[in-house]
Parts: sequence; C-alpha cells; structure tokens
Amino acid sequence: MSPGDGKVCSHTSSRFVFLPTQFFFCLFPLQTETFISCNETVNPALLGTSGPISTVGIKASHVNRQYPLRKETSALLENMGCALNPDGNSGSVKGYSELVENWKNGARQPASVAYEVAQCKNVTILTSTLVHKILFDTSNTKAIGVQTSAGAFYASKETIICAGAYRSPQLLLLSGIGSASTLAQRGIPLVLDLPDVGKNLHDHMAVPLYWKLKEQGNAMDVNPGGKLSAPQFYFGLPCDWIAFEHIPAVPTTAKSEGADVVSVRHLSHPERCPAEIFFAYVPAGPGSMKYKQDGQMISSMVLANPTLWLIDIPLMAHIAHSHPSNPLVLVDNTFLSPYYFSPLLQGADIVMGATILPAHHAAYAKKL
Ligand SMILES: Cc1cc2nc3c(=O)[nH]c(=O)nc-3n(C[C@H](O)[C@H](O)[C@H](O)COP(=O)(O)OP(=O)(O)OC[C@H]3O[C@@H](n4cnc5c(N)ncnc54)[C@H](O)[C@@H]3O)c2cc1C
Repeated sequence: MSPGDGKVCSHTSSRFVFLPTQFFFCLFPLQTETFISCNETVNPALLGTSGPISTVGIKASHVNRQYPLRKETSALLENMGCALNPDGNSGSVKGYSELVENWKNGARQPASVAYEVAQCKNVTILTSTLVHKILFDTSNTKAIGVQTSAGAFYASKETIICAGAYRSPQLLLLSGIGSASTLAQRGIPLVLDLPDVGKNLHDHMAVPLYWKLKEQGNAMDVNPGGKLSAPQFYFGLPCDWIAFEHIPAVPTTAKSEGADVVSVRHLSHPERCPAEIFFAYVPAGPGSMKYKQDGQMISSMVLANPTLWLIDIPLMAHIAHSHPSNPLVLVDNTFLSPYYFSPLLQGADIVMGATILPAHHAAYAKKL
C-alpha cells in the first residue's frame, strides 16, 4: 500500500474494474489509509489519517495484545545484528520494526469491503463471472470490453484487467497479446506480438524453521483457556516484529547471472534489503501441519524479496490455455536460481547463527 495523505480525489467518468470474479462499473473516490500506531516517531507527512484502509501496528491494535515473547524476539533480532527501525514505513525498511497490518477491528480488510463497493450506486457486480478474453475494436488497437461467461460487456471509457499475477498475463495471451510463436502454437489469433507477456514473474519464497519453546504456553494455544487464546490475540498475526536485512552476496550472484551494471549497483546499496525475517508465535508455513497449536511451537520465517530492476533472468512462462479456468502450467524453474536462493540461505543462516549452537548450526546449514 502506498502511503498517502488521505485526500479524496474523484474521477469524472465511469470506470470499469473487475475484482475476484466480479465486475464493477464504478465511479468511486480514490482515498488512502488511516494509519494507527503507538509509535510517536511516525511521520504524518507520509501516512494517511482519514482513508478507509486501516493500517495498524501490533500494540495499537488492542491494548491487551501483548505477546510474552516480545522482548525476547527483539533481543534475538538485535543479536542477529539488526537495529531497531522506529518507523518501517518511513521509506527505509532496514532493521526491525513493529509489524503493521491491514486489519480493522480484528478482521482482514479486503479493498472491496473497505471502499464499500457493494453499496456504490454506480457499481454493478457480477459474481461467478469468468472473463474469457478482451475484446478489441476492428483495427485491433483499442480494448473495447470483455467477453465473459455471462456475455460481452463494453466499456464506455477504458477496460482495466486486474486478474492477479498469473491470470492477468494469461488473459492477455488468450486475447492475442503475447509472443507470436506461443500464440501460433495455441492457435490464438495474434493481436500484438509482445514476447515478454507472461514472463518476468517475481515471487518471494520462504524458508520456515520451527522451534520448540522451553516454556510452554508462550506461543499461540488455540485451546480454550490457553494463555494466548483471548480475543485480543486474534487481532492480527501472532508476531511482534518484522526485520529486513541487506545481503551482500545478492548483487554478486545477480551479476554472475547477467544482471546489468545499474541493477548490480542498486542491489549493492546498503539500504537494499532482499531478506525479510520474522518470528510467528505459532507453527506457520507449509510444514506447520505437523505441529499442534498448543502453545509450544513458534516459527521463524525468512523470505526472499529479490524484486529488482532490469534483470533478465529466465523466469516462469505462462502458457495460454484454451479456457481461462484451466490450471496454468509454469515452466522454467526460477527457484533454482542462486540469485533467489542467496537471501533465503543467508537469512536462514543469520537466524540460526543467532539462535542455535555452532555445532548444530553446521548440521542445519547442510540440511538446507
Ligand atoms: C499466501 C499469500 C500471502 C500474502 N500476504 C500478503 C501480505 O501479508 N501483505 C501484502 O501486502 N500482500 C500479501 N500477499 C500478496 C497480495 O495478496 C497480492 O499482492 C494482492 O492480492 C494482489 O492483488 P490483485 O488484485 O492484483 O490480484 P488478486 O488478489 O490475485 O485478485 C485477482 C482476482 O481476479 C480473479 N480472476 C482471475 N482470472 C479471472 C478471470 N478470467 N475472470 C474473472 N476473474 C478472474 C481471481 O479470482 C482473483 O480473485 C500475499 C499473497 C499470498 C498468495
């Protein structure tokens, strides 16, 4: 979410937007967030105060949302070499800051709810309506609407596609915008030869590690009567801090994979933080199903955020299928790239280095 000043600006023409299998014919004001924090140092010039999106820090979300491991995880992060960043929304994420979440009154806040789109008189919502392709004018130069499972819809001004990271490029491909050779293979008539459609996907992969606490009850216990089973602990993720680290090996690996000079310089900047680390007071992530939520287990999570400028490395290709509801086939296993692995491995290394004995450290590093 981009920080803003909460000012309202309105459009003068109808807009045509679709969200989760729905259509909006919409005229709504663009507002931003209401940022709620206990932190005195937040910069009000950067953060909204009257928008419908609620962004809230852990302590500010509920007076009694006080996790027992707040001090310990803070000390652990400092032990890893992370300094406290009093405002992670100031423009620099480096260091560790209190987690800020987009929740309101204990519930996640979808944009359609925050903006009360269902109540908007100039919005028509079509549920369970799949877009099959974009429609173009006779010269194939301008999008004029979409073909859907409920028929064709024509835009009075513009057509906006927001079908997510995977399905947006798929829709473009199905509509004839993409690599001419891929489209020819699938028998899709070409509208525009744009070979990069469906490429250059960036993801942020995670390495979760699970830790058993010596003192039972300090993690989330979903059982009634458990120390953290009171309602205030459900006002967001069971977590206190989020940390971002600069990883010096990332520019080196990016360079070895053909990144250009400017990108390598950006990645080398000490404020550039491709590793994200947090502790969740609950078993989280893909391996968590093995563990009970009984107050004994916490997780550390290391995520790689190697989003960058202008690096052309082989990425996933989205294959155009005959129908938009078909599952996507992804090719090119990007995740094998050392450039992506660097932040994960080094981030996990930092966590382990700060938490476990050197003898065990070597064994864990080998396992990774
Ligand atoms: C596990 C997970 C955790 C995340 N956690 C966070 C987080 O903590 N903080 C954060 O900021 N971001 C988080 N993200 C990322 C965030 O969810 C996405 O960046 C955001 O949802 C993208 O919004 P979008 O509107 O572009 O796409 P989406 O939210 O993906 O919406 C696209 C919608 O289009 C619909 N659609 C697709 N194809 C068609 C079609 N042909 N016809 C009609 N409808 C179609 C889909 O059903 C979908 O509902 C997380 C993502 C994941 C997967």
